[in-house]
Amino acid sequence: MDLQKSDQILDVVLIGSGVMSANLGALLKSINSSLKIELYEVTKELSFESSNGWNNAGTGHAGICELSYTPDRGPDGKVRVEKAIEIFEQFELTKQFWAYAVNSGMIDDPSSFINAVPHISFVYGQEQVDFLKSRFEQMSKHPFFSEMEYSEDPEIIRDWAPLLMEERENMPVAATRMRAGTDVNFGELSRKLISWLGNQKYCSVYTENRVTDLNRCKEGWEVTIKDLATNQIRKVKTKFIFIGAGGGSLPLLQKAGVPEIRGYGGFPIGGQWLVCDKPEIVKRHNAKVYGLSPGAAPTMAVPHLDSRWLEGKKTLLFGPYAAWTTKFLHRGGSFLDLFQSIKLHNVLTLIKVGVSNIPLVGYLIQQGLQSMSTRMKELTNFYPEAKTEDWKLIDAGIRVQAIKKEDGDAGIVHFGTEVVTTEDKSVSALLGASPGASVCVHIVLEVIQKCFPEEMNKEKTRDMIEEMIPVYGKNISSLKNEDDIQRYKKWNNSAESILGLK
Ligand SMILES: Cc1cc2nc3c(=O)[nH]c(=O)nc-3n(C[C@H](O)[C@H](O)[C@H](O)COP(=O)(O)OP(=O)(O)OC[C@H]3O[C@@H](n4cnc5c(N)ncnc54)[C@H](O)[C@@H]3O)c2cc1C
Repeated sequence: MDLQKSDQILDVVLIGSGVMSANLGALLKSINSSLKIELYEVTKELSFESSNGWNNAGTGHAGICELSYTPDRGPDGKVRVEKAIEIFEQFELTKQFWAYAVNSGMIDDPSSFINAVPHISFVYGQEQVDFLKSRFEQMSKHPFFSEMEYSEDPEIIRDWAPLLMEERENMPVAATRMRAGTDVNFGELSRKLISWLGNQKYCSVYTENRVTDLNRCKEGWEVTIKDLATNQIRKVKTKFIFIGAGGGSLPLLQKAGVPEIRGYGGFPIGGQWLVCDKPEIVKRHNAKVYGLSPGAAPTMAVPHLDSRWLEGKKTLLFGPYAAWTTKFLHRGGSFLDLFQSIKLHNVLTLIKVGVSNIPLVGYLIQQGLQSMSTRMKELTNFYPEAKTEDWKLIDAGIRVQAIKKEDGDAGIVHFGTEVVTTEDKSVSALLGASPGASVCVHIVLEVIQKCFPEEMNKEKTRDMIEEMIPVYGKNISSLKNEDDIQRYKKWNNSAESILGLK
């Protein structure tokens, strides 16, 4: 094996070509065109892991239809909607940056990665109907959700989503709908942003390049990379590393030996979809329909019936079903990943999580063992007339849930997204998965703010961010003044028009 060393000191190394690295790279380079950035991706293709269109649900999470963001009622009995408002605001940042990227010519053809599709929440049975009604009453008061519609009328719901109401028994039903929902192909968007980045001065993108080690050096970090096509080992030095390696992030943080990772573990949950390509069925559904969590299902495994636009074609997806795996990555992962991630500092946390989450463990076992007919039964809760022969089962992406030691003793499974940054701000890494890709711009702006404070203090940078993302720092979720609300609506309209969502 050859060993190549470069004398050049890079400003930024991005590990992984998913939606996180793609947006961070594009934002950083837009803010400061002199940055020397390199991106390494282990697979042959770009963005083929969790961000790839078939591996996630493609929901532009904006808190509109996902009932898991509003699970609780307050002391007054009303459903609490703060989390939904927060997610909406974060997705707004994402849409605005992508609109800027299209408008400025960084990327083209928004319909290849984002499409408008109504977001619907659908419930049945009186208890669920009461819940959805209270949720609607709270949400529709907020300017973000002022266009939300609510109905308990089966005929109106049939009009919104005919498949839901086919041959449904006579029982109370309710639904909310917002037309301004989206379906996103995060993989396609990432590939576009990365190809723009790779064409910029002082930037390079390498595929089939696995980052194998990270070591501190005088200048910051020495990154060891193996070129899988030539078996060559390369070492580069950089001031900053972003580990956007998805399931590969935890092992890399462990290799870097940073103290911030002590006590963290990872637990992989695979996913599966039922897919229907039959044109006569696909064309009768035009929505993303979310329901309530079945029992112990973790929030990210609440099934939904989704219209998707993938590879230029409309299709229908139902799921995700959870699946057992010990791999951390779909492509190029190893069944040893989980076992190799167990260290002295996290073994207790992992055991405690297992013991204190028995219903979750039971749920995963049940999901892993279920047959096609049990899966179809779950689908018929949404689409009563669904027939097995019209659906096929495919694998989705793997979510490696971050497991961490809490202040107290017991470990917790963290279903959100966790950004781990070293004390000296020279490494930032992303663990966890949900709401994930939709809030990528919010996440990477936080990384930039934390790790590039000097850059963020420059007036030029602040002006540039304001031009790219007008709502950034405006706290749009708390706007009360009518002028400010109208200004926000103008920005929102402009971004949606550029992205072709109007
Ligand atoms: C079933 C499922 C459904 C989901 N649904 C949604 C949804 O509807 N909406 C939503 O917003 N989010 C959703 N998500 C979450 C979303 O997909 C992820 O949060 C997001 O794609 C993560 O992007 P990433 O860039 O962090 O990682 P990834 O897209 O996984 O990219 C990581 C990359 O790093 C590479 N890599 C790993 N190790 C190395 C290494 N050592 N060297 C070089 N490269 C390496 C990998 O090959 C991969 O390409 C879903 C996820 C799953 C699994």
